[in-house]
Amino acid sequence: MISLVIPVYNEELVIDELLSRSLSTLKDIGRPFEIIIVDDGSEDGSLQKLLKHREEDKRIKVVELSRNFGHQAAFTAGIKRSKGQYTVMMDGDLQDTPELIKDMFEKIQSGEFDIVNGYRKSRAESGIRGLLFTTFHKLFALILNKKDVENIGNFSMLNRPALEALMQLKEKTRYLPGLRTYVGFKQGFLDYDREGRKGGAPKMRLRHLIKLATDAIFSFSRLPIFICFYLGLLGVIISSAVGLAMIFSDSGYSLATNYRPVLVGLFFLGSVQLAFIGIVGEYVFKGYKESQNRPMYFVRNEYLD
Ligand code: UDP
Ligand code: MG
Repeated sequence: MISLVIPVYNEELVIDELLSRSLSTLKDIGRPFEIIIVDDGSEDGSLQKLLKHREEDKRIKVVELSRNFGHQAAFTAGIKRSKGQYTVMMDGDLQDTPELIKDMFEKIQSGEFDIVNGYRKSRAESGIRGLLFTTFHKLFALILNKKDVENIGNFSMLNRPALEALMQLKEKTRYLPGLRTYVGFKQGFLDYDREGRKGGAPKMRLRHLIKLATDAIFSFSRLPIFICFYLGLLGVIISSAVGLAMIFSDSGYSLATNYRPVLVGLFFLGSVQLAFIGIVGEYVFKGYKESQNRPMYFVRNEYLD
């Protein structure tokens, strides 16, 4: 069986096309399938629409979360309920092309790969949003030291062993594309052009994207700590050198008339320290979040069989 997992948040404009294209692709493949749609606390008519589609085809399963928890949590709720030998994760705004599931399936069927990642040859976002996406993905690929990771998102197909491995990662702060790389296995890539969303506005506002990027960087690297440490070290070396030079050169420097550079230096160091305390704080906060151990989401209703 193939399980298709889709998170949905206020996507009523897209759902009809999303489901009709997903259904026809899956039917075309000719294996048993289920479509698990996780409604992430939509405030529009998404849920009603989903349930109406379900009346026509019971292979459409709906999980209703108690409120909006964010799409990483929604994906997590969905893959946990997936029963298939193969599980697909796909965005619900048709930026990922449902028809590609067939190619993913063929690729994974060959037995050569356990995970097939959609690899974005191009993306539809432009301007600042596009620039931020590109910068983040480049940085993240650098952190993981894997060039391949640069252009992957949620769109992917995993076989059972890979999915079970992914589900063993219990951290609450999660960036699934990173975790998918982390588990290893044989990873394949399928090129595609990422389209623009079919309708409605992006549900991930800029602050969500920044949070997601921060989560990804903090949970996969010590880069922020390294930056603090080495910049601090550099500061120590430079100021020692300057200090020594001052002791040995009697320049007749008078603080009374030349206090401004001193003040600027003071403010600069103070700000650097504050920023670095912020970075440390982020780690403390993330540790605190994990230790609270709250569930990632609550389910209000599920319509599964
Ligand atoms: N989504 C969700 N919960 C949220 C935000 C988004 O389930 O809080 C869903 C959304 O409906 C879509 C997918 O996650 O199916 C990707 O969201 P979006 O297109 O806004 O993200 P982007 O493409 O900008 O990364
Ligand atoms: Mg989108």
